[in-house]
Amino acid sequence: MYIDGAWRPAAGTGAIAVVDPADERVIAQVPAGTAEDVDAAVRAARAALPGWAATPPAERAAHLTALRDALAARQDEIAATVTAELGAPPPVAHAVHAGMPVVVAGSFAELAATYPFEERTGNSTVLLEPVGVVGAITPWNYPLHQVVAKVSPALAAGCTVVLKPAEDTPLTARLFAEAAHEAELPAGVFNLVTGTGPVAGQTLAEHGGVDMVSFTGSTAVGRRIGALAGAAVKRVALELGGKSANVILPGADLARAVGVGVANVMANSGQTCSAWTRMLVHRDSYDEAVALAAEAVAKYVPGERVGPLVNAGQRERVRGYIERGIAEGARLVAGGPDAPLPAGYYVRPTVFADVTPEMAIAQEEIFGPVVSILRYEDEEDALRIANGTVYGLAGAVWAADDETAVAFARRMDTGQVDINGGRFNPLAPFGGYKQSGVGRELGAHGLAEYLQTKSLQF
Ligand code: NAD
Repeated sequence: MYIDGAWRPAAGTGAIAVVDPADERVIAQVPAGTAEDVDAAVRAARAALPGWAATPPAERAAHLTALRDALAARQDEIAATVTAELGAPPPVAHAVHAGMPVVVAGSFAELAATYPFEERTGNSTVLLEPVGVVGAITPWNYPLHQVVAKVSPALAAGCTVVLKPAEDTPLTARLFAEAAHEAELPAGVFNLVTGTGPVAGQTLAEHGGVDMVSFTGSTAVGRRIGALAGAAVKRVALELGGKSANVILPGADLARAVGVGVANVMANSGQTCSAWTRMLVHRDSYDEAVALAAEAVAKYVPGERVGPLVNAGQRERVRGYIERGIAEGARLVAGGPDAPLPAGYYVRPTVFADVTPEMAIAQEEIFGPVVSILRYEDEEDALRIANGTVYGLAGAVWAADDETAVAFARRMDTGQVDINGGRFNPLAPFGGYKQSGVGRELGAHGLAEYLQTKSLQF
């Protein structure tokens, strides 16, 4: 455990085995933190809070720049670790899993220095002050990004943090703690407790010394954490699931829209909450789109361009959805439920056609390399289908021109929309409408999550 500025032994003797999903071998053990460890970490964070909150933003920014630099210096080690515990192919581990968090950490270093922590309105000065001690609970799908997207803005705001990372990917979180140590954050400002969700995670979420819980993961656990936070009247941020729509309007560059759409789902073996897992195509272009998707997905060879799923449970869940899609009458165009390789938690990249909006594979988050292609009659029908799930995290619209795509995107109930292939922007707020969550991460909006206001009247 990394608590109060030092590595120390866990209070208990329990351990969590870390498995390489590509060959199913145990590669490491980490301690399973108990309530005692969580309590020690929260106490350290509370003790460090007044000093860190009072540290001038420019000084906090200097620490965050040092953190960014420490992560950048460790990119090779981070990429190798993400490959080992998540199974991401090395080029993806380098570019996405190790590279993107450096950019995000850098963005918060800059924001810490430039963010207006004070504003004037009428006869008042409004102070934007840190919320306090943050309990951060992260998932395994982007092991470092998820950590950086919570810890960096919290520290920029002047909060102190206790991180409980996912059971499947604790080694990357440990590298983050080493980088935080190298950044010479004052003792207790950042703390790490590895452990299971029901023990360490739940204790952290319930702890009276935690002012805010920031959670990313499943809707089931998010709902529970939201209820706990509600009962305790504490701040909560939830980044949950998605079933995002890739809407291809008539007149769009069909080949590009389908190719980018398939790539978007295959990235990270489909384990991306914002993945465009529903492709919506006009009936006149439908057959052509299905053929293009089948052709595009053939390039994603398991064990080469596409990695395994994170664990056996996730593999079974995804295979179960593929079987359900077949049973519900969808047409299997590529892939299927059988294992593509003799070892490792691999699933065949799968494309379903003739998917109708009420099917489970059109409604529920699968979290695997599975694309569902739905047919629409006209724009109103496309909008109804796009908005017809409980989720609203991301999406895409392709049209003959940006104006047409934007007009459609304005009517979508979702937190992010990429217009005609727009690129990822680390400063754009990211988060959900409807049951995809509460709150926003990244950029100035992401920093604001960790602030509360105090008005002074003159
Ligand atoms: P999960 O919600 O169980 O785990 C996420 C984090 O919450 C982990 O750190 C876990 O230890 C912790 N946790 C679990 N139970 C807890 C509890 N009772 N109290 C506090 N913390 C707890 O997610 P999972 O089982 O790893 O994945 C299941 C599904 O969740 C996936 O198939 C996918 O649909 C979804 N998911 C979404 C995201 C996302 O980015 N939104 C990420 C991972 C998984």
